[in-house]
Amino acid sequence: MANLRRKILIIEDDPGISNFLKTTVSAADYDAIVTGRGQTALQMISSHCPDCILLDLGLPDMDGGEIIRSVRSWTQTPIIVISARSMEEDKAAALDDGADDYVTKPFGTVELLARIRTALRHTRTTAESSEIGMTGSYRVGSLEIDYRKMRVCLDGQDVHLTPNEFRIVALLGRHAGRVMTYKAMLRELWGPSASMDNKILRVHMASIRRKIEPDPNEPRYIFTEVGVGYRMAEGEEANREAGE
Ligand code: CA
Repeated sequence: MANLRRKILIIEDDPGISNFLKTTVSAADYDAIVTGRGQTALQMISSHCPDCILLDLGLPDMDGGEIIRSVRSWTQTPIIVISARSMEEDKAAALDDGADDYVTKPFGTVELLARIRTALRHTRTTAESSEIGMTGSYRVGSLEIDYRKMRVCLDGQDVHLTPNEFRIVALLGRHAGRVMTYKAMLRELWGPSASMDNKILRVHMASIRRKIEPDPNEPRYIFTEVGVGYRMAEGEEANREAGE
């Protein structure tokens, strides 16, 4: 496939991490532009129009959330948060502010590049993957979500999900590869006035996993992002074991 030399903006003030990110994305044939300051980053986004933004939440001059909200007021450029903070609330807040995904330091190059590919894929097709738009279904590994018939099959066998379970799986499938926060899921499934109690999601998820996961303790299709939300596997993740 022809390489379009996509441009990645790295916003990171730690020189070691910044160099690692630059080397990693350059080796994968992306153009890297780098800054360690939030104000400069905002200017660079409008002048360079990057295809994807890697954002450290802890910058010296601006709060990461402020940057995300500012960027989101005028562009949908994907933002992947690079966070040293293991605090789940920060990641969830960044996603709810409009970030697309996050990686937690320390992270590997394989993980980072996979997240970038996912983020870039979703820009081209906005929220819904083109696969669902074209075929009416989403497939990953042996799992198939049929949006037209509103059913889920595993190895070709109908999985008997309740209506709410189906809605949860269908929602995650539409956002495959990306984290959905509990808050975003509850709002999407039960409206803005829904109770913000994650327990209902956990109860449904336990039941869904018993039905679709070969081993519910080692999920292959729906991953838990601890304290943040859930993420449906994308094709390349499910195929990775078979040799990417
Ligand atoms: Ca920092």
